[in-house]
Amino acid sequence: MRFETKAIHAGLDIGNPTKAIIPPISPSTIYEIDAEGRKESDFHYTRLGNPNRLQFEYVAAALEGGETASAFSSGIAAGMAILQSMDPGDHIIIPEDVYSGNRRMVQTIMTGWKLESSFINMTDPDTIAAHIKPNTRLIWIETPSNPLMRITDIAATAALAKSHGLLTVVDNTWPTPVNQQPLELGADLVLHSTSKYFGGHSDILGGIVISKKDDDFAEKVRIIQRFGGAVPSPQDCWMLSRSTRTLAYRMKGHNENAGIIARYLESHKKVAEVYYPGLESFAGYDIAKKQMTGFGGMISFLIKGSKEEAVKIVGRSKLIKRATSLGGVESTWEHRQSSEGEGSITPDDLIRLSVGLEHPQDIIDDLEEALG
Ligand SMILES: *Cc1c(COP(=O)(O)O)cnc(C)c1O
Repeated sequence: MRFETKAIHAGLDIGNPTKAIIPPISPSTIYEIDAEGRKESDFHYTRLGNPNRLQFEYVAAALEGGETASAFSSGIAAGMAILQSMDPGDHIIIPEDVYSGNRRMVQTIMTGWKLESSFINMTDPDTIAAHIKPNTRLIWIETPSNPLMRITDIAATAALAKSHGLLTVVDNTWPTPVNQQPLELGADLVLHSTSKYFGGHSDILGGIVISKKDDDFAEKVRIIQRFGGAVPSPQDCWMLSRSTRTLAYRMKGHNENAGIIARYLESHKKVAEVYYPGLESFAGYDIAKKQMTGFGGMISFLIKGSKEEAVKIVGRSKLIKRATSLGGVESTWEHRQSSEGEGSITPDDLIRLSVGLEHPQDIIDDLEEALG
């Protein structure tokens, strides 16, 4: 089966005992134990497993080409499960402009775990290689990065990691498996905030870790999911499975609209620079073209002007909502540095735009008014 078909049909028989086309929501927290006693694979208690979570994990793993997946109550909880699967004293390499919530997690929580980290520019594999230490265990990739849209060569980095016996994780939240398939390019793990494009409607918080192999590391992540307890509700998993059925077509729309708007912004006199991997003028274009089949719905751009002017421009939109986060059907934008807070390396004249699925001309009309 191909991607679009899998997204609609994979795993629909999990926890679906009747002939319902759509599996029911299973809100029960407990399951009756067989008179002969409990088998390991039986549902037992909802934190340890429930049909809706299993179904969503199954379809997400199928779409990323992984053997197994563990869903969490947020993207951050999913990321932390990967880091908590490290041993104290291990070292990771991570982008200096990684999603700011993950930066804060590494720098404020995981230090108590004695996790060591190097935050670096990951656009050049030689720079990554130069930061590998004897205790390095994992390379964390986010490509395109957030919000600078820097592109890391996944295949080259995964090959480098492999030659040193290191794990590679790719935060694939922005591109989604529609546009980028990291496991096929050699990565071991994929991470998602499913609050973004998987959910797609700005109404679910969630995360997931997908593993290429159902190995010891995947088992560690699963143990943190079940015994750590940061699990999504059956209702949220059911909603996520529902949203996932339209993921391919929503992404096609996001890709198309963002391509049109990136080119519009590039030609605008008030715009100094546009960061969008689908623009030929963009620094990461060649690698992006090699490893992405679509360029996604996220655009960052620098204005010709000060921070105050950038904030003013964002303040003038009528259709595009002023909000953080991304990946919804509605367009949103923000003055990104204000959202990221302390430690941010984002330029203060940068605006980050999540291009929605409205008619692109309506988005352009709003941008035209706001940019003035
Ligand atoms: C939002 C986001 C996260 C964190 O996910 P939450 O669901 O907000 O916890 C992680 N990585 C990226 C790239 C994100 O955009």
